[in-house]
Amino acid sequence: MDRLRPPRKELEALTPYDAKDVRADVMLASNENPLNLPGELLEKLSELAARIPYNRYPDPLAGKLREMIAEANGLEPGNVLVGNGGDELIFDLLLAWGGPGRKLIDLPPTFAMYGIDAEVTGTEVIRLPRLADFCIDGDALLERLKPGDVDIVMIANPNNPTGTLASETLLIDVLNSTDALVLVDEAYFEFSRHTMRPHMSRHPNLVILRTFSKAFSLAGLRAGYLLAHEDVIRELTKVRQPYSVNRFSQVAAQLVFRERPVFEAGISQLLRQRDMLVHGLSALDEVTVYPSEANFVLFKVAHASAVWRDLLHEHSVLIRDFSRAPGLEDCLRVSVGTEEEVGRFLAGMDEILSRRHASDHFGVAATASRHLEGGK
Ligand SMILES: *Cc1c(COP(=O)(O)O)cnc(C)c1O
Repeated sequence: MDRLRPPRKELEALTPYDAKDVRADVMLASNENPLNLPGELLEKLSELAARIPYNRYPDPLAGKLREMIAEANGLEPGNVLVGNGGDELIFDLLLAWGGPGRKLIDLPPTFAMYGIDAEVTGTEVIRLPRLADFCIDGDALLERLKPGDVDIVMIANPNNPTGTLASETLLIDVLNSTDALVLVDEAYFEFSRHTMRPHMSRHPNLVILRTFSKAFSLAGLRAGYLLAHEDVIRELTKVRQPYSVNRFSQVAAQLVFRERPVFEAGISQLLRQRDMLVHGLSALDEVTVYPSEANFVLFKVAHASAVWRDLLHEHSVLIRDFSRAPGLEDCLRVSVGTEEEVGRFLAGMDEILSRRHASDHFGVAATASRHLEGGK
């Protein structure tokens, strides 16, 4: 036949996630660790890689990694689920707790995957916008939870792309006022050091997400994990893809998790570079910088899309343009890179903004002289 039967009607409203596979000398668009694994770990990993039986399916639940993560968090393996990146686990949560006739509370502007996965799974999305400083509107959230009809709440903490940390008191109030599953997405935990882990024993509806993609330099291998009540994990194992975390990723994540103290110095360094980034951006006229508890910084600048484009085309610096996202007009997000990368980004910004300033003055001067000419 020369025709194609259409897919589900709902797909008409969706557009593919734009992974923006743009290359630049300085890549500061995806909140990755700017450095690859340390050399000693790369060497160990290639030794381990040579001994993997690639012809065999992987352990579906990544047993060894699961045990290590459970032990480090004072939990049982049944409280841990490893996924193909945190993204897969977010999808699993919506497959199990969302779906047609069920409701997600989303707190935009926030991580886009919550809303996208909700739409894909036919989950109704209740959007409660954040306040002007990007804090959660706690009153609106607690009020909306009262009728008891919400199935799942997703809270990125710190929030991406704003860098905002939620108050622990508010998160506890949320947990106390709903039986909905509450995902606290701690993808940037290694930078913020804030966690809801101590509240797990009192709240069976609390789910915590972590990832190997940010602080631990493994974005390319796709590994993340959930900490949750064993009943929650059991339900998720019904919907998950059994072999989603491949053998190589399991081995690499085990190695990195075991050796995680090796990353401490690099994380502290990134936090210092974040301060340098905030400091440098704040010194620029017409830039508003938002405080961040993660390895990226959101800022506001007039004509943000033009600045984004000039950074890429004239300085080969790639950052993320959020200026078309609701609530983020004229906002750009830059990830914390190496000292040199932060320097190149700041120099680029300075050049772009001073040139614009100069041409503004030129514009004013030109208008003034035309007025003068007109007056003659
Ligand atoms: C990066 C990120 C994740 C997960 O990323 P993975 O690479 O899929 O592990 C989850 N939540 C937030 C808020 C993130 O920024």
